[in-house]
Amino acid sequence: MFSVSLCLCVKEKPVKAIVLFGSPGSGKGTQAKMLTECLGVPHISTGDMLRDSIRHGDQLGTAVVARMQSGALVSDEVVNRLVEERISRPEAGSGFVLDGYPRTLAQAERLCEWLDGRGIREVVIHLAVDYNVIIARLTGRRQCPRCGTLYNIGSHPPQVDGACDLDGEKLVIRDDDSESVIRERLAAYERQTHPVLQFFLKAGRRVVEVDASYDPPSAVFQKVSQALEPR
Ligand code: ADP
Repeated sequence: MFSVSLCLCVKEKPVKAIVLFGSPGSGKGTQAKMLTECLGVPHISTGDMLRDSIRHGDQLGTAVVARMQSGALVSDEVVNRLVEERISRPEAGSGFVLDGYPRTLAQAERLCEWLDGRGIREVVIHLAVDYNVIIARLTGRRQCPRCGTLYNIGSHPPQVDGACDLDGEKLVIRDDDSESVIRERLAAYERQTHPVLQFFLKAGRRVVEVDASYDPPSAVFQKVSQALEPR
């Protein structure tokens, strides 16, 4: 296992917030899980939180289900509120990993205000992946509806076709992983999310680009860990 310390002490203040940034299918979720296991800090995924709400059929889930199924983004107000509630909890006190947030300029501005107001430094890890690799990854993606484990029929198939290795549950294709919806999600990324990277760069925030096109997750994680080392 790699050892990464979250007290990175980049210049004067320690880095507590890791922002994983990249298009759908860039492997943010996988890297976030590896980081949080290694660092013992919460993994805050807006996509997972929204899907949980839909599964539970609560008010939030009912309000966002149509937008999520079409591949469009949920409103800034909703996700800002969700994230602020989570990063304010005591368990996020020694740090957290954000996955899928911020995704618009308004979200990025809000997050930066929140972090600056508390003197918390962040590092943005940009997982850069080739467009065709992303299409292949997303169309081949299968997920266990019970434990959430992800597979890919091309690069990481389950041992038994169509069944989860861990609990045998029948694997499913996420509603938003059909090809037309994938193209909409990628278009939403280009339109609304990619400019967020420019915002972080222009604001002089720390952004580290990691090439995540072809390496297996463990090798990408090694590069991510290196990016977290003090400069
Ligand atoms: P991916 O990164 O593979 O698109 P996510 O699980 O991060 O998957 O997001 C799935 C969907 O959840 C998005 O297409 C969008 O509808 C919604 N969503 C997640 N995070 C945000 C966010 N920060 N702002 C707006 N909508 C979001």
